[in-house]
Amino acid sequence: MSLGAPLLTLSAIDKSFDIHRVLEGVSFDLAKGEVHALLGENGAGKSTLMNILIGVYSADAGSLTLEGLPLIIGKPSDSARHGIGMVHQHFRLVDRLTPTENLLLAADDHPHLKTRTAARNALLATAREVGFTLNPDCPVGELSVAEKQRAEICKVLALGARILILDEPTAVLTDAEASSMLGAIRRMAESGRSIILITHKLREVVGFSHRVTIMRRGKTVAAGLDTTQLSIEKIASLMMGSSASSVAPSSTPDTTTSSLQPRGPDLLAIAHLHAQRDDGAPAVTDVSLRVRAGEILGLAGVGGNGQHELVETLNGIRSASAGSVMIDGADALELPPNQRRQLGLRVIPADRMATALASDLTIAANLSLTAVVRGRFGRFWLNRRRMEREAKASIEQHDIAGARPHGRMGLLSGGNAQKVLLAREIDSGMKLLLAHSPTRGLDIRASAAVHQRLREAVAQGAACLLVSEDVEEIMALSDRICVISAGKITGELPGDASAADIGRLILGHE
Ligand code: ADP
Ligand code: MG
Repeated sequence: MSLGAPLLTLSAIDKSFDIHRVLEGVSFDLAKGEVHALLGENGAGKSTLMNILIGVYSADAGSLTLEGLPLIIGKPSDSARHGIGMVHQHFRLVDRLTPTENLLLAADDHPHLKTRTAARNALLATAREVGFTLNPDCPVGELSVAEKQRAEICKVLALGARILILDEPTAVLTDAEASSMLGAIRRMAESGRSIILITHKLREVVGFSHRVTIMRRGKTVAAGLDTTQLSIEKIASLMMGSSASSVAPSSTPDTTTSSLQPRGPDLLAIAHLHAQRDDGAPAVTDVSLRVRAGEILGLAGVGGNGQHELVETLNGIRSASAGSVMIDGADALELPPNQRRQLGLRVIPADRMATALASDLTIAANLSLTAVVRGRFGRFWLNRRRMEREAKASIEQHDIAGARPHGRMGLLSGGNAQKVLLAREIDSGMKLLLAHSPTRGLDIRASAAVHQRLREAVAQGAACLLVSEDVEEIMALSDRICVISAGKITGELPGDASAADIGRLILGHE
């Protein structure tokens, strides 16, 4: 594709929060009909730059142009008026309302969308144009993540966006959903819209974007490179600097730590476990598993095959309908989560922000949530000073970039939020770690750091049940691999099994 004059430019943008410099002379330009990937590790400043473009933050310095004319954006409605729309990582939809009602709610400045029928028709027309299926009449809260995302994109397009910013749209999707979303993104560009695709998946950059701009630590390290001229390796090294090769995830288990050690006792023993979905349908059927001290058991499978319910049942927040669960030799089946915790169970849930971390509290509070419950910082009055001192030490020890004890949890990037959770959960009392999709949505470096923490934990004698849809992650970490399909364990393989063998079991083609 030959690119015309830039439609939109951002030049020499600076931004600091307090004394923390987040953007330093960042530039970016976008052409009509282009998919332009904005790439960078967690915390590089991508979301901040886009929030400046849509008027959520104002830049400390720098300038913007649209079609060659100066663009002044003081508030979000200014960007909307210029046809710039953003789909955030956390969707901005009201769960109780349908997609139609959500569009109505957002359509204050759009006289042609004032009636329910007009809004509904606009949504459906947009969906048809980009090739989405969409139910405009079902409350958003009842939609799947992928459906919510499609509803949000259609809403933003129906409001007139011709420049669409998508913040890590595929991070929350399964592989199949992601492929169809990326296809739709290409179609939107072909129909003359311009897309800024924030991602840290290099395959999406190379396969689905025309150009890429790469940010590292608040600076532009590569601006508008033609992706047809770039390899994945080249992009990775630009993104991470010279240390790229040392942090790339290894695809073989680390034999120096866990896998050569003799295995210890069973720290988790599940026998003939059954559990149901919320609607009463069977979710987990006759699952039996053992995880020994010093090993990682990988549970592979396509999402939605009972993993979520199994994790909740082991955590004690969903009751089993039959079977037994032993944690470190003790019968845990009837125990609530806090008593399972006393037996040494620690959990990294798939949806960390919703269920394990409190985004409105400080980082110090999040790091000490479980210790506070145990009375570590005083039974009646909290010893806040001690809490903060320990939080500071933890932040340094775990290299949680950009974090301060007083900082709000919700402002941390995904990788750093996961580091906070791991720092809290992997403590001296941990015997069994239940990790569900621990690197979902994280970039390569953050994923490598999480993997390293899991390996260290089992090297020190813990057991880990790793539940993941990511076959590469399963292969990189597991000493043994089980596959779950339709709620049943369909097979067990050694840790060095090939992707093809695992894939055959996952898909049920034995
Ligand atoms: P990315 O989207 O590339 O992961 P972000 O733009 O979200 O990165 O964050 C860049 C840095 O700015 C991070 O260190 C983050 O903690 C910090 N940051 C983002 N928003 C705020 C805010 N409102 N206040 C303070 N710091 C922030
Ligand atoms: Mg971001």
